[in-house]
Parts: sequence; structure tokens; C-alpha cells
Amino acid sequence: KKTQRIDKILGNLGYGSRSDIKKMVKQGRISLNGTVVKDSGIQSNPNTDVIEVDGEKIFYREFVYIMLHKPPGVISATEDLRERTVLDLLPVDFRVFSPFPVGRLDKDTEGLLLLTNDGQLAHDLLSPRKHVPKTYLADCVGRIGDREAELFAAGVELDDGYVTLPARMEVAEHGTYEDGQARTRIFLTISEGKFHQVKRMLEAVGSKVTYLKRISMGPLLLDEELPIGEFRELTGQELESLR
Ligand code: URA
Repeated sequence: KKTQRIDKILGNLGYGSRSDIKKMVKQGRISLNGTVVKDSGIQSNPNTDVIEVDGEKIFYREFVYIMLHKPPGVISATEDLRERTVLDLLPVDFRVFSPFPVGRLDKDTEGLLLLTNDGQLAHDLLSPRKHVPKTYLADCVGRIGDREAELFAAGVELDDGYVTLPARMEVAEHGTYEDGQARTRIFLTISEGKFHQVKRMLEAVGSKVTYLKRISMGPLLLDEELPIGEFRELTGQELESLR
């Protein structure tokens, strides 16, 4: 749809309800291509028309692309009756675009989550045929290393019999938990997205994930400057890299 009612366009951008916009029109505050608007139902193409409110050109766009540093404790959904969702972390001027998370992170998982209302881009990134690689940082119980890396490279059998595609594992650090138990911090890159995949892969090799954070999705890297729970829009370069 190329044209929409001007009250709809302004409403979607957060300028108010249909009746608010009607009032603004009555007050002569809105203009379209240099002419004061008389009818709040007038059709406009916001991509090509110049719409001004109180003499200021509005900034219209169809799509938003948001990088969120997901904290634990929120779910990767747009609505939930009981739980806080990732959408609750965005201010209303982004929520009016109705973005949704591109893929899911578990409630207790942190890190990179892309939100957009660009269905085509989301579809392409999630398509199982595209094998978009995702890299996770995980703390795992026990001392794991070359043997597990080889198993993941070959593919491991999950609890439901599914055999995973080749994945790359690197050890970041060998350490211990507070209680003295051995702990290994790994980077694991997978190219698919089965339910609880990383956790189940570690279970398949006799370990257990105690901390999980996604740090990349395809060419998109979690911005290290972005505090947990915060978001920012993608840069033009980041967006280009995803296309
Ligand atoms: N794998 C998991 O087990 N959990 C996530 O949140 C993401 C990948």
C-alpha cells in the first residue's frame, strides 16, 4: 500500500489518536507538500510526500531494525499475559512500529537479539536453508576441550534423536565455579536453531550449560558498548551487511 490516510500515518508515528490528529488539522498545524491540510482523512504517500507538523518535517520510515542486548528474565515474544517480554524493554516510539524478535533466546539466555518489523529480512535470516551462523558464549560444567570440539564438528545426537549440523567449538577459558567444580567457557557456533539447541548439545556430550550469551548472528555482532537491557538501532553498515 503506497498511500494511507494522513491521520493513520501520524498515528503510527505516535502523534496521537485519530481524534487528536483531527484536532491538530483543525488548528492548521499539519501540512502536506506545503499546503495546510483541511481533512485528516486525506491520502498521502509518506515515502514521497513532505508532511509537516508545526512546520517540522516528520521523519517517516516503514521499517525499524533494533539491536537489543537481551537481559535474562525476559521472554523473546511480543506479548505475554504473565511474563515480561523483550518488547517491554522498548519505548513506545519504537513499539509503534510493531517490531518482533528475529528468532528466540531462552528466558535465561542473554545477548544479541535483533528486532524488526521487516518480515522479509527476518524470514531470510531464519530460513533453515540459509544456515546463518550464530555464535554463543557458554559456561559449561566440567573440563571440555578437543574431544567435544571434534564431536560438535561431526554432529551430535540430541535427546530426540536429531543429529546436529557441524558446529565449531573453541575453548575460551578453563576455570572453576565458586564451589570448586571445573568449568569451561566456550565459544560455540551453530548454523541452525533447534529448540534449546546449545543446552542440548552440551548435554549430549555430558556437560551442562550454566550461562549462555549470544554474541553474533551472521555478520551482526553484539555491540560490546551496549549495556545489558539496552538497545540501539542498527547502523546503515550493519543493515547492509545483513542484506
Ligand atoms: N540455544 C539454547 O539452548 N538457548 C538459547 O537461548 C539459544 C540457543
